[in-house]
Amino acid sequence: MSDPVIISASRRTDMPRFYLDLLEREVRQRRFRWHHPFNQRPMELSLAPDQSAVLVLWSKDFGPYLRRRKAFEGWPLFFHFTITTPVSFLEPDLPPLSHRLDQLERLVAAYGPRAVRWRFDPIVCWEQGGVLHDNLGSLDVIAARVAAAGLRDVTVSLMDRYRKIDRRVSSTPLTFRYLSEEEQATVFAPRARILQSMGFTIHTCCEPALTAILGVRPGRCIDAELLTASSGLPLRVEPDGGQRRHQGCGCHRSIDIGCYAHHRCLGQCLYCYARP
Ligand code: SF4
Repeated sequence: MSDPVIISASRRTDMPRFYLDLLEREVRQRRFRWHHPFNQRPMELSLAPDQSAVLVLWSKDFGPYLRRRKAFEGWPLFFHFTITTPVSFLEPDLPPLSHRLDQLERLVAAYGPRAVRWRFDPIVCWEQGGVLHDNLGSLDVIAARVAAAGLRDVTVSLMDRYRKIDRRVSSTPLTFRYLSEEEQATVFAPRARILQSMGFTIHTCCEPALTAILGVRPGRCIDAELLTASSGLPLRVEPDGGQRRHQGCGCHRSIDIGCYAHHRCLGQCLYCYARP
């Protein structure tokens, strides 16, 4: 019998929101195609008749998926749902927060709390008119709804610096601020305490400075042990050498079928390196 595998769709683009037709086709045919992230070589995996796979779906808007979720019936699924404070110029094209929180509740109702992870990703800081702002304002409000849905884990990360993002905002009145490691801990520590008082375990995605805060753990967004527990499949626990291990990424091996070039995210997030 072939080992079960983890298919991730995707760290690199929002496939459930923008490439659902493609995802449905791959699932129907039990054949997954992607491009090697470094040399762009086309790759393909056809699942053997006796081979199982867990699908890990990442999105900021599961509305399209929820309308067509029947196509994924019978597949073990895990959802990474990114929900941050709505700031209209940061994420101008997302549905209202209340709709996305409703989506989260529907996912939990359909698949159970072990199959859904809330991500507050990324934490963004910017300066405007000489004042430092961040997008942590509604963290506690979102956390209360997420907790009411039965989730007790959250993954956090900070915005990464890319020259193209700084260029993108160079003609606007705002400047993104990239916090020093000390500042990161100072800004996030009070929020971490709020989350912890609500019963959340906080996991980081490649943010070693945040793990200096008491109780914050270095995370693994693809966690074979967690996926084994949620799916019942005996997944192999192997480190993923393709990820940023030097920055603390603890992910286990998976096949990520998204591609920056071929499935470019059509989202408009101002801080994102994956969009033009
Ligand atoms: S634009 Fe970037 S951050 Fe926004 S949804 Fe797409 S990949 Fe995610």
